[in-house]
Amino acid sequence: MDINLYRLLPSVDEVLRDESIAHLLNDNKRENVVKIIRRVIEKYRMEINNNVNFIVDKAEIIRQVVNDIEMRKLMNLKRVVNGTGIVIHTNLGRSPLPKQIKDNIWEVASHYSTLEYDVEKGERGSRYLHIEELLCEISGAEAAIVVNNNAAAVLLALSTIAKGKEVVVSRGQLVEIGGSFRIPEVMMQSGAILREVGTTNKTHDYDYINAISENTALLLKVHTSNYKIIGFTEEVSSSRLVEIGLKFKIPTMEDLGSGVMIDLEKYGLEYEPTVQDCVKAGVDIITFSGDKLLGGPQAGIIVGKKKYIDLMKKNPLTRALRVDKLCLSSLEAILKIYRDSDPVEIIPTLKMLTKKENDLYNSAMELKRMISGIPGIKSEILKLNSMAGGGSLPLENLPSYGVAISVDGLSTNGLEKKLRQNIIPIIVRIISDRVTVDVRTLIDDDYQIIVDALKHIVEVCS
Ligand SMILES: *Cc1c(COP(=O)(O)O)cnc(C)c1O
Repeated sequence: MDINLYRLLPSVDEVLRDESIAHLLNDNKRENVVKIIRRVIEKYRMEINNNVNFIVDKAEIIRQVVNDIEMRKLMNLKRVVNGTGIVIHTNLGRSPLPKQIKDNIWEVASHYSTLEYDVEKGERGSRYLHIEELLCEISGAEAAIVVNNNAAAVLLALSTIAKGKEVVVSRGQLVEIGGSFRIPEVMMQSGAILREVGTTNKTHDYDYINAISENTALLLKVHTSNYKIIGFTEEVSSSRLVEIGLKFKIPTMEDLGSGVMIDLEKYGLEYEPTVQDCVKAGVDIITFSGDKLLGGPQAGIIVGKKKYIDLMKKNPLTRALRVDKLCLSSLEAILKIYRDSDPVEIIPTLKMLTKKENDLYNSAMELKRMISGIPGIKSEILKLNSMAGGGSLPLENLPSYGVAISVDGLSTNGLEKKLRQNIIPIIVRIISDRVTVDVRTLIDDDYQIIVDALKHIVEVCS
C-alpha cells in the first residue's frame, strides 16, 4: 500500500480554513463542524485502507462535510407524500389536519393561553372545558373528556369503572389493533377482569345476562373496526346491551375505535356506527380516536354520562394520560368545523374518503400529464382500490385511480427507493411489479413534488 495516499488527506485545520467551511461556522457550532470533519476524514482513511487505489480529493471531502452539515439541519419528523391510497395511514401520521386551523394552533402554541385558566372567574380552570361543550353539542352526550389516544381512553374508563371487578365482553370482539392494543391486555393493565362470553361468531343477549354477577362492573362492546365476522353471525346491538345494563343496574361501554361523527352511508360508504347513534342508544361510556375517521389530532375522546366522566376526571391516571395545548387547540378547531360547517368539505381525511371516482380519474390524468414531459419516464393510468386504513372500514374497497411510473434504466425497487429517499419522501405502492401512485391521498402540491423528484431522479440516472 502506498502510504502517501494517507498524506493526501487534508488535516482538520486545513478543511476548516476552506472558504465554504469557514462560511458554515456562522450558523453552526465550531465543535460540531470539527466533529463532522473528523468523521468524514476518518471515512476516507477507511476507504484508503480498503482500496489501495483510492484517490482522495480534498474538494470531495469538503463537499461531503458541507452536505453532512446541511443534512443534519433537515427535520427527522417531516412531511411525506402519501401515494399509497391508504387514507388513515398509521405509520404516516394518520389524519392530516386542514390548513384552516393552523392559525388557531400557532396562536396558542406561541403565546400564553387559557389552557387551565378561567377568564370569567380569574382562577384556575379545566383544560377539558374547551372541548367538552362542543363534544356534547355535536354528539348529544352529557359530558366528555379527552386523553392521549383511544388506548388511553379505554384504559382510563376500565380502570375507573371496573378495577378489580369483571367486565363482560363478547368473544367476537376481543380485538387487536395495530399490534400493541389488545382488549385482553388493556383490560389486564387497568386491573379489570375479563369475562368473555359467547363464541367467535355468535354472542346472544342471554350470554351477557348469564355472565352477570355481583362482581360485574361493566358491559363492554368493542367495535370490530379492523375486521368483520361475516356469515352465520350474531352480536347484541348497543341498544339491547343498554336495556340489559339498565335492568341489572350495570353501566355499558362501547369502544367505537374510529369514532365517525357523520353518516358515511350518504357518501356511498358502508355504515359505520356513529358516535351520535351510540349516544342515542343510551350507552354510558363511549370511547374513540381523534385521528381516525374524525380527522383530527391524536387523541382519545370519551363521551357519555356525567356521572362516569366525573369519576374519570378525578382518577389520578387522567393526569398521566392528559393531552397538551397543541392537541386541544387543534381538536377544538376541528370540532368547530363539525359544528359550524360541512366537515366533508374541509377535513382532509373525510374529503379523501369521499372523493368521487370521476374526480380521481381526472387527478390521475393530471398527474400523468405533468409527468409526461420528463424524458425517460413511462406512465400509465391504473384503476386501483384504495383503503381507509387505520383499522377503519375494513371491507371497504374504495375504487380509485393512480399512475404507474417507470424510469428507463431503473428497476422498480430502485425507483421506489429513490422516491422514498427524496428530500420530501414519496411513499408509493408496488403493484404488479410497478411503482404506483394512488391519487386519492395526494394533497395540494404533492403533484409538483412528485414531478420534481422524478426530474431529479432522471437527471442523476442519465
Ligand atoms: C384504533 C382503535 C383503538 C386504539 O386507538 P388509538 O387511538 O390508536 O390508541 C382501540 N380500539 C379500537 C376498536 C380501535 O379501532
